[in-house]
Amino acid sequence: MLAGDLAGLTFTETLAPRAPFRSFREKGSHHAEGKPEIPKRRINDCPEHVCGSLIHARMPVVNLAGANAAAQESIVGKGKSDGAPLLVLIVMHVSRLIRYPIDIVSVSIVLCALSLQLTALARNWPWYFVFPIFFLIREVNLIEHNHMHLSIFRSRFLNALLGWMCHLSGGVPLDSYRLHHVTNHHRYNNRFDAGRRDWSSLFGFRGTRFPDRPISKAYYVLSFPFLAHGETLLWFLRSPTSKPTRGFIVSMAIVGPVSLFLAWLNPVGFVTFFVIPWVGILFGMGNNNYDQHKGCEMTDTHNAANSFLTFYYTVLSFNVGYHLAHHHKPNLHWSLLPDCHEALMRSKPGSGLQPQLAATVRESARACSESS
Ligand SMILES: [Zn+2]
Repeated sequence: MLAGDLAGLTFTETLAPRAPFRSFREKGSHHAEGKPEIPKRRINDCPEHVCGSLIHARMPVVNLAGANAAAQESIVGKGKSDGAPLLVLIVMHVSRLIRYPIDIVSVSIVLCALSLQLTALARNWPWYFVFPIFFLIREVNLIEHNHMHLSIFRSRFLNALLGWMCHLSGGVPLDSYRLHHVTNHHRYNNRFDAGRRDWSSLFGFRGTRFPDRPISKAYYVLSFPFLAHGETLLWFLRSPTSKPTRGFIVSMAIVGPVSLFLAWLNPVGFVTFFVIPWVGILFGMGNNNYDQHKGCEMTDTHNAANSFLTFYYTVLSFNVGYHLAHHHKPNLHWSLLPDCHEALMRSKPGSGLQPQLAATVRESARACSESS
């Protein structure tokens, strides 16, 4: 019976947030009778409250209590496994560590990038290996971005460990990234006035005007590492005992000596496979931020950011291309952003898209409504 329940799980269902050890049906209704309930502690991740009911339709209605018990028995070797598929048991076990099992991919990429960098340095690989390494480090930067919005693991230590690995691989400490990006950028979103100062605003320069006259892209990208990260360092200096500062110091205390050792081991390799990608990422972050916000009217949530829905910016970029949806609900897991984007588009067709694409979407939406 239990094996049958487990075998009935679809791939989408296994990607859903882990429920507490009882079924959704046992917990009663959420918004309407007969619908599964979202556990309270996950309510902030539920896009129902901002984006519609798309996710609820995908939530599994299975008894995870039984499933987890079977997984436990199988893993510790007690009792029989009832023939449950090994993959499901593994996913159940991983879901005890990771909020969303799909983030096994995220963790694997970080491990892969760092392993490749260390191997290239230790084996003195040719300089052109920096290209695949740089591609992976870009992914690491995106994973770190997702991780600071919604931590990947349930364990505080594992979250910190992943942050240190991202720091060593991509050069950006998790705590400074979080301070600048979550506390500052998402909070003020390019405002730069007396009360709201986004350190990475496109309009924080003399001669600019919010929201229609930004600084030039070239100057913005070149100045981004100094302004955004410089302001972050100043904040740390002004708040020496704060939690972000302590996290930053711990990360530097771990990554700093490791970096020095690697530089001593192979100075040229360290510069090629670590320092150059780090610098590239710093300027790349400015480049992305400019594209994601340039031209936005910033009058409401439907025009606060640009979306880029190409294969590269969605599938190969952990859905960062759904940037309007990301600004709309920053703590929403990256795998759920397409649904949130869809809901935003339904409420206002063309939201967050570049003008030409937005006009096409509005036109087709108008045609659809007229024909129906
Ligand atoms: Zn973000």
